[in-house]
Amino acid sequence: MKIYCLVIALVCSILQTQAQITSEQEDSQNIRKLYDLALLNGQSYSWLDHIANNIGGRLSGSLQAEQAVEYTRTELEKLELDKVWLQPVMVPKWTRGFPEYAYVESAEGITTPMTISALGGSVSTNPLGLRAEVIEVKGIEDLAHYGKELIDGKIIFYNRPMRPDLINTFSAYGGCVDQRYSGAEEAARYGAVGVLVRSLTHKIDDVPHTGSMSYGDLPENKRIPAAAISTLDADYLSSMLKLDPKMEFYFKLNCRNYPDVESHNVIGEIIGSAFPQEVIVVGAHLDSWDLGDGAHDDGAGVVQSMEVLRLFQRAGISPKRTIRVVLFMNEENGLRGGNKYAEVADQKHETHLFALESDAGGFTPRGFSIDATEEQYQQILEWKDLFEPYLIHSFEEGGSGADISPLKNGKTVLAGLRPDSQRYFDYHHADTDTFEAVNKRELELGAATMAALVYLVDKYGFEVVGNEEVSAN
Ligand SMILES: [Zn+2]
Repeated sequence: MKIYCLVIALVCSILQTQAQITSEQEDSQNIRKLYDLALLNGQSYSWLDHIANNIGGRLSGSLQAEQAVEYTRTELEKLELDKVWLQPVMVPKWTRGFPEYAYVESAEGITTPMTISALGGSVSTNPLGLRAEVIEVKGIEDLAHYGKELIDGKIIFYNRPMRPDLINTFSAYGGCVDQRYSGAEEAARYGAVGVLVRSLTHKIDDVPHTGSMSYGDLPENKRIPAAAISTLDADYLSSMLKLDPKMEFYFKLNCRNYPDVESHNVIGEIIGSAFPQEVIVVGAHLDSWDLGDGAHDDGAGVVQSMEVLRLFQRAGISPKRTIRVVLFMNEENGLRGGNKYAEVADQKHETHLFALESDAGGFTPRGFSIDATEEQYQQILEWKDLFEPYLIHSFEEGGSGADISPLKNGKTVLAGLRPDSQRYFDYHHADTDTFEAVNKRELELGAATMAALVYLVDKYGFEVVGNEEVSAN
């Protein structure tokens, strides 16, 4: 009897191991197929061509943003997904108006033009422009050092550069972005009349980089104009101020804030064959800044997310769970699309198993940043070897993406595609963010990498989501 039991146990164990090997082989083959399809016959690059070159920069509330909504909806419909729809969302509308103009006057009648760009959401200067002395600081914390008396009536020039020694350039960005986001609000409290912010890039050139800013709860009559200044001109201005601290800076902004307008998130899905009620989101933001074509930020993520669903179809993989692409509106200056999506998902009591965002540029994928419980994270790590042939090595715990962050609930696993970040801030929010700056292969590799992770999550689910058992096969 004992021997009989032993034999049974042995056979079971062999069968189990074999099943595991077969499953691993199947995963490896399917992932290979997804990469092959993306590289041999991908569609992400031609979609991006249209979005960047035929539509261009698409700030929320603009005609181009609406064109991007229509175009991506039409393209998703062409894929013949199970369902494609638009989700209404109210978004802010801000326009830049005529190009900004700025100069410094180093001696009477001797002026040097400066390249600046209004920050998104900034008020305009008065129609004649603004002229004042400049105080250079290395951060908001320096304002207290100067105090109200010295700052009153001056332009505050935030000139803390991004740290070059940080390998992850997003960390360097994170170390400076408060100057851009809150610099005007804080300087206005000290009586400043305007704000200049060193562009958030490592590159020393004459390209200003815009981005969002906030006045917090400042009343309208206290709001002061704010602009980014190119790194080259920030260095020039800094050196000139050392020679003559009384030197004056002139700038004129023509931007304008309007009441909110209606726009849309664009959504499409393949309904799951076994667990249709479990949703896997793959997404990016459809809006971009108005300066360039928004090719890296975030056109790349948009077309990669669309491509994930197309790759599933072409590979003949019928997902068990519902795979949903969401193209979020208004990440750049409001996050209204991301908030609206999470709000509606909550109202409908939808179960989101996993959400993956691509919003770090269309560069060579390195891996993922994962926001999950320890058990969920460990499960993802078990799949690491399957990514080895594609040089995808980085599976780190950390933030995911702005648009999917409102889905965070302690159960849904969130992740962000993490491409190489070294060149991202050369283009970020600037007029250099064009189609030409995106490499076709790198873009396609990113799409395939996303599809591979979605494939594994769809196939295996997650063992435990919070305290509830969720189907794990
Ligand atoms: Zn972005």
